[in-house]
Amino acid sequence: MTLSSTHPRDQIAAIMTRIYRNGLTTLSGGNLSIRDDDGGLWITPAGLGVTPTGIDKGRLRPEDVVRMRADGSVKGAQRPSSEVPFHRAITDRRPDVRAVVHAHPAALVSFSLVHRVPEVRITPQVFQVSGPVGLAAYALPGSAELGEKIAAQFGEGFNNVILENHGVVCGGPDLLTAFQRLEALEYAARIEIKARGLGEVKTLSDAQLACLETGEPLAEVRPDAPDEAESALRRQMVEIMQRGCARQLFTSSQGVISARLGGDRFLITPSGRDREDLGEEDIVRIDSGRREAGKSPSRAARLHRAVYAVNPDVNSVVSGQPVYATAYAVSTTRFDTRTIPESYTLLAEVPLLPFEMPYREPEAAARCLSIRQPVVMVENDGVIAVGRSILQAFDRLEVAETSARALIETAALGEPKPIQPSDLEQLTTRFVPHL
Ligand SMILES: [Zn+2]
Repeated sequence: MTLSSTHPRDQIAAIMTRIYRNGLTTLSGGNLSIRDDDGGLWITPAGLGVTPTGIDKGRLRPEDVVRMRADGSVKGAQRPSSEVPFHRAITDRRPDVRAVVHAHPAALVSFSLVHRVPEVRITPQVFQVSGPVGLAAYALPGSAELGEKIAAQFGEGFNNVILENHGVVCGGPDLLTAFQRLEALEYAARIEIKARGLGEVKTLSDAQLACLETGEPLAEVRPDAPDEAESALRRQMVEIMQRGCARQLFTSSQGVISARLGGDRFLITPSGRDREDLGEEDIVRIDSGRREAGKSPSRAARLHRAVYAVNPDVNSVVSGQPVYATAYAVSTTRFDTRTIPESYTLLAEVPLLPFEMPYREPEAAARCLSIRQPVVMVENDGVIAVGRSILQAFDRLEVAETSARALIETAALGEPKPIQPSDLEQLTTRFVPHL
């Protein structure tokens, strides 16, 4: 069952809990709503910001969600969020917006403090999921004036609005879409903040974004039922995807895992699906370049097929846009792996591939990856890692992110001192032959 097919109360409880769990809001700061066909509004209850005995929105229960009728009256014990005025103003102005999410995630709050919007051309995923961002001037929280200022930005066509000295509001045709816009935007803001600490930030041109559109969908093939080994791989892919989300390497809208089945056959995660909510049946089998009928594989499927074709000992490919490693991928500063033995031996020198290469020349991109060269960065995209197993490829992604984080945070302490060339040679001789 998909989220959007459940009752609005259940959707709001599920997404509120997730926003809090994923560190996208404080208990007092998040509120969500869904408009129903009768003009009523399902909305989170007033939280701890108003009274010390308010609802714990980190564990919001469906029965805590308030329904406000079209005339503004409310039935039941709970009071609605104090931000009701802007939720109603947005959905009045934009009837296509049926769900609204508001929160105070730290990186977007930073942008709100300088009265600027984050750069959405930072990665294709952010550009496609979130889209352009408006800016609303400061007004008193809970006031009709704030509602008017935000609704005016939605009226201009924006689905995301930064509120000066406050936070962010995202809308969408359903609650999952609105949530994914907020989540992708907060990741974009985190990446941009880290990348600005490194130097200049690159953004994607229209021509670069257009290259994502190229390519016909793969032909379909009707699959036979998965055998025991394939079922086990599907289970592991789902489990590792969830682990990656919990560790903030993936989000609901970014992260790809594939695993070789043998011959010219592999499994890959689907395109456009909520990563935290994947089931084994959502995984797509690719057989000789043809996709399992009725399913839509990640657009990285062609690249992954090429990686398996040129690397007989690679059995898994994992890619993602974790904040710190992606900060290097969008900046002009090179990622240096000569930090600690783990990073240097496991990652080697991490090359930076041009943005277009994985789409336009998947074979050439595939030749940049091997067991000895298991990680590459793609300009304005993220990190691709390979391994002999799913866990090994996932580990390389995690090592890349942790190494990038250590380097970026070192800047507050002083100039990092790389491992010396003679020590690197010793490391290479001792460990690399065993990889
Ligand atoms: Zn707020």
